Amino acid sequence: MKRLVPALLACLFFVQAKAQLTPFEKSSDKNYTATYAEIITYYNNLAKQYPQMKLINYGMTDVGKPLTLVVLSQDKIFDPALIKKQNKRVLLINNGIHPGEPEGIDASMMLARDLLKNNRLPKDIVLCFIAVYNIDGCLNRGVSRINQNGPRAYGFRGNYRNLDLNRDFIKADSRNAWAFEKILNTWQPEIFLDNHTSDGADYQYVMTLIETQKDKQNPILAEYTSKTLSPELYKRMAKSGYEMTPYVEERKGTPDSGIVAFLEIPRFATGYTAQHNIISYITETHMLKPFDKRVYATYDFMVHLIDICERDHNLLGELKHKADEQVKNQKTFALNWEVDWEHWDTLTFKGYAAGHKTSEVSGLPRLYYDETKPFTKTIKYFDNYKPTVFADKPVAYVIPQAWEKVIELFKLNNIAMRRLAHDTTLDLQMYYIGDYKTPQRPYEGHYLHSDVKLNPTQMKVKFYQGDYVVYTNQALNRYIVETLEPQGVDSFFAWNFFDSVLGQKEGYSDYVFEDVAADLLKNDTTLRKKLDDEKAKNPQFANSARAQLNFVYHNSPYFEKTYLRYPVGRLLTDAKLDLQ
Ligand SMILES: [Zn+2]
Repeated sequence: MKRLVPALLACLFFVQAKAQLTPFEKSSDKNYTATYAEIITYYNNLAKQYPQMKLINYGMTDVGKPLTLVVLSQDKIFDPALIKKQNKRVLLINNGIHPGEPEGIDASMMLARDLLKNNRLPKDIVLCFIAVYNIDGCLNRGVSRINQNGPRAYGFRGNYRNLDLNRDFIKADSRNAWAFEKILNTWQPEIFLDNHTSDGADYQYVMTLIETQKDKQNPILAEYTSKTLSPELYKRMAKSGYEMTPYVEERKGTPDSGIVAFLEIPRFATGYTAQHNIISYITETHMLKPFDKRVYATYDFMVHLIDICERDHNLLGELKHKADEQVKNQKTFALNWEVDWEHWDTLTFKGYAAGHKTSEVSGLPRLYYDETKPFTKTIKYFDNYKPTVFADKPVAYVIPQAWEKVIELFKLNNIAMRRLAHDTTLDLQMYYIGDYKTPQRPYEGHYLHSDVKLNPTQMKVKFYQGDYVVYTNQALNRYIVETLEPQGVDSFFAWNFFDSVLGQKEGYSDYVFEDVAADLLKNDTTLRKKLDDEKAKNPQFANSARAQLNFVYHNSPYFEKTYLRYPVGRLLTDAKLDLQ
């Protein structure tokens, strides 16, 4: 397919000849992605040349190098607060979270230069590029993506701790995630883009697209994204010669069976940004297309996104404001979602015929796609999700200061928090963890809990001076509720932040407690009846001395109230609190 270049791109490319070339452009076969050293040297040289560009380092990554943010600002203002005051929008672009999917790295290097060189920086948008996010992985260069057609060497998916950074945004195990969240919460973009490469089925498209799943996205933003921004991006990319389709996740085996919209839950970059009411996209170029086409497609996508955002910059500001206001007042929050298999849309899909032949490896049938047999057909697109679990927000959450990582992450995310001025006993709702599932083997460094069942209990609990009170009247309510409600698919509880409450600390020796328990039953007729009722309905229980003794223990004043008690309290009424 010959590349068709729209006027704007033609203009940019014409002047680019004399400018500093990227390592990708310099390579004779255009099958090369820049190394970490080349990326940083290139941007440093560019920043020396152009005062509209500034490199700002954030935090540290796990490999001991800071995260470099490339900021392009037409009027040379690099203060995020001042930029907000100027009523400008911020577009944040992330590259190299999976360094083996490096198109965004090379395309951003070219695009930054072209915009500067040709004096084409947008007037009302400040552009922030993360040069390469997984620096650790980028340094670990090799050929670890067997399914991919170039470049000839590239970084590794895992970071220095072997984490997939695109699962790390809520649990934030990596220092990379802390640096990213610092950038996001400092610059507070209205739009976010994360550049990737796909794997999976073969089809005709060079690029596929994931947008924030519309049923999970704030409805005000979803309306604009699904009716205006996304259709326009599809239209413009088709004109550029890179017709796109939604990211291909097959329902069964091959795309003919229908494709399912990707649900980017909060552990993913765009799930995390959705909690911040940021309109977000993921480009996924197709692994089997030549690397240069994938880079140019990513370049074109960014050009179009910037152009539409510049055109709609006022509207984007209004929508963000409205969405934030809506979330401040929102009462009920979805905590998990599932595909609605009953209601699907259709789309026209340009695929390749799939078939089966005998494997030369196993002698058994194997799947193949026949690129000599392209087809265009209508397929089912399952892009509707329905929430499966909800929580009503309390007036405020009370978080004991002992849970330091939660507090630090909330600070990092600009969550407004107050602290108790004195030790205070509060009458509030606590959750007892009724049940949960945990896998036997770890996932991304954790034993992720799921299917959490809760027993809410109203009770008096003592909190201490300096414990944190988080009111739920904030634009970041989604982040607050989705992380603090234990049933959230990516809650802090799910990610093992609170596992110590799942262990019992005290117990008893049977022969000692036997006599105490007998006394308890003599003096407490209610407890006696409770025990008898349980015996009557459960024969196994009636025949187990140990189970009955344990039953009395659990219902006695000796049993610890903190066992299985989720330590974050829910204040359901607006009690007057003495706060610092
Ligand atoms: Zn990826």
